[in-house]
Amino acid sequence: MIYYFCGMANYEDIFKKVVAHAKEYGYVFQSSEIYDGLSAAYDYGPNGVELKNNIKNYWWKSMVNMHENIVGLDAAIFMHPTSWKASGHIDAFNDPLIDNKNSKKRYRADVLIEDHIAKIEAKIEKDCVKAAKRFGDNFNREEFVSTNERVIERQKKIDEIIEKMKISLSSGNLENVKSLIENLDIKCPVSGTNNWTDVRQFNLMFKTQMGATVDTSSDLYLRPETAQGIFVNFLNVQKTARMKVPFGIAQIGKAFRNEIVARQFIFRMREFEQMEMQFFVRPGEEMKWYNYWKEFRMNWHQSLGMGKDNYRFHNHETLAHYANAATDIEFKFPFGFKELEGIHSRTDFDLKAHQEHSGKKLQYFDPELNKSYVPYVVETSIGLDRMFLTVLSHSFLEEKLENGESRVVLKIPAVLAPVKAAILPLTKKDGMPEKARDIMKMLQIDFNCQYEDKDSIGKRYRRQDAIGTPFCITIDHQTLEDNTVTLRDRDSMSQERVLVEKLHSFISEKVNIAKYLD
Ligand code: ATP
Repeated sequence: MIYYFCGMANYEDIFKKVVAHAKEYGYVFQSSEIYDGLSAAYDYGPNGVELKNNIKNYWWKSMVNMHENIVGLDAAIFMHPTSWKASGHIDAFNDPLIDNKNSKKRYRADVLIEDHIAKIEAKIEKDCVKAAKRFGDNFNREEFVSTNERVIERQKKIDEIIEKMKISLSSGNLENVKSLIENLDIKCPVSGTNNWTDVRQFNLMFKTQMGATVDTSSDLYLRPETAQGIFVNFLNVQKTARMKVPFGIAQIGKAFRNEIVARQFIFRMREFEQMEMQFFVRPGEEMKWYNYWKEFRMNWHQSLGMGKDNYRFHNHETLAHYANAATDIEFKFPFGFKELEGIHSRTDFDLKAHQEHSGKKLQYFDPELNKSYVPYVVETSIGLDRMFLTVLSHSFLEEKLENGESRVVLKIPAVLAPVKAAILPLTKKDGMPEKARDIMKMLQIDFNCQYEDKDSIGKRYRRQDAIGTPFCITIDHQTLEDNTVTLRDRDSMSQERVLVEKLHSFISEKVNIAKYLD
């Protein structure tokens, strides 16, 4: 019997543990950590890059290789600046900005408000720490925060501020954003005054220059989404790959947004990766395809077996300027249900806008209808880093074992696990390392394997559990006699003797994408 004690801890604690675990086991590091880090940028370590690649592969196989009518693209991050005028990003991809008149320092208005909220949160945290000291082992955080009047009052204040900020920002009422800052008496951290300018809009795109001299250089943007690279290549791809509507173009690549509230680890970053697919359809057929892709994408998520109840749709009531229907697939992250993927019916907005700005026709001649038209587009767009976080946070478990010991294990779906098998010679002598190396050679071409011969076997098992390795293969004295090994299963910790020649097909069957995606 295994007891899970993650479920009883509070969500913040679990999240902190996941972040710490991600660093300790080579999944995710803060960018430029030796310089105290760069906020909202992260580096993926040896296990992280494997998990990321496996997620990409799982997506690509399902979206591109398993669809005859979807092909891939890898467009440049830099695009002609007019692309961003056409897409609406130059005019409308904004967030609010404010200056302090005394210090001349510039802030993002909602960051100031968020920081104010963080201060109230810190007070709640202090209350909790004090109470924990007072109540000792009997302290129950969840009960305390839901019953202590002072904490409830502080939380109410936070909720009110968030609500006011949301309403003002979504309605574009920048005067109200400024009033909120003034009413909360938020002061500039540098000058200490609340002498603020009006709030103005701030574009989320990162700007840079291409070219060496000031005269000849031109302003460029780092793309805030990968989709536009697909739209401007619509005809190139359609013609060269001889695609017929309906068809899709898929792409995985980096996107950059100068996000205002960039907290929550890799959930919201300034540099992140998207896996997007734009599906071009006949005008009038977009709702049929929108519903198709909604269902298809939800099934893709659920194929990984991370709990049906952990996903839900959130349909958008207010739509972006380019959309006539939109939904998010939300996942239950440790901090609650949040957007993981967006599915949008983007109409013909983008292709038409690029057509107008470039002066080039972006139309498709439909032989069945015997006419040309600008196709409508249904988009599926998922953040790779967010997907990574769903896998990591869902897999992280602290278990109490029957023998009283505990272990930390990442129960990553085997198909995505960074290391599929650990090859562990019981001792470093008696021909075991040589045998283990032979097994390593046999498996490593198809599966990412790790060879480990240090420490006791128990310690090695724990280390592999913490990495999320689904199978441990132990080579012992018996192996040398009958060519069998001990195969240990990460999740059940059960062990069985398996013939060496059966190892490849055994692992292959367990980690096979087809098994998950059928
Ligand atoms: P949000 O509402 O969370 O800001 P969004 O609606 O702006 O997201 P989209 O423009 O629809 O996001 O982008 C598609 C996907 O890209 C999102 O579902 C998310 O998974 C991912 N994504 C967007 N912004 C970020 C970010 N700053 N960091 C990491 N992933 C992101």
